[in-house]
Amino acid sequence: MISVIIPVYNEEENLPILAKRLFSVLRKLGGEFEVIFVDDGSTDKSLAVMRGLQKDYPQLRIIKLQRNCGQTAAFDCGFKAARGDIIVTLDADLQNDPKDIPKMIEKLKNCDMVYGWRRKRRDPLLKLISSKIANYIRNKLSGEDIKDTGCSLKAYKKDCLNNLKLYNGMHRFLPTLIRLEGFKVAEVEVSHHPRKYG
Ligand code: UDP
Ligand code: MG
Repeated sequence: MISVIIPVYNEEENLPILAKRLFSVLRKLGGEFEVIFVDDGSTDKSLAVMRGLQKDYPQLRIIKLQRNCGQTAAFDCGFKAARGDIIVTLDADLQNDPKDIPKMIEKLKNCDMVYGWRRKRRDPLLKLISSKIANYIRNKLSGEDIKDTGCSLKAYKKDCLNNLKLYNGMHRFLPTLIRLEGFKVAEVEVSHHPRKYG
């Protein structure tokens, strides 16, 4: 079974479009799946929109955090609730493309974790520069060559998440942490889109 985990903080416009694209991809894969929206204390209509979507998409589950706890906490809640043996994560803001999921799952046959590399990243200049610097420092310190850790589109075999204790901001270090636990980590090129809403 595949569990797809999506952190949601004020994404009311994006959710219906995302659900449509995501479920179309997951249905084509043919196997069992669930989608977990983790509402990270949204203050817009995201929660109501999600509940509405459950009518059309029975495999959709919702976890609601009482207040805004940040993306790492949202992922962590999703990881704990997931029933699948394969876990996929992506953002709710349509910057990641669900069409990339099948190739990540294919790649997972030969490793334990796959992270998406946004080769052509569509973000504001300041974000691109700070990310370049952060990548350089992290790779220097950890002695590895991970091109992109900020991309939420990732796939995991459930086992590599068992021993992780996650703190605020740590979702950016997941490939490194998982590699340190002795698991095999691989990269897949993925597409990236500018944020339109939110
Ligand atoms: N998000 C969240 N809690 C937060 C901030 C963001 O759950 O406190 C979600 C957000 O809704 C989106 C994802 O995390 O689905 C990534 O957020 P954002 O687009 O702001 O980050 P970026 O794409 O710039 O890394
Ligand atoms: Mg984003």
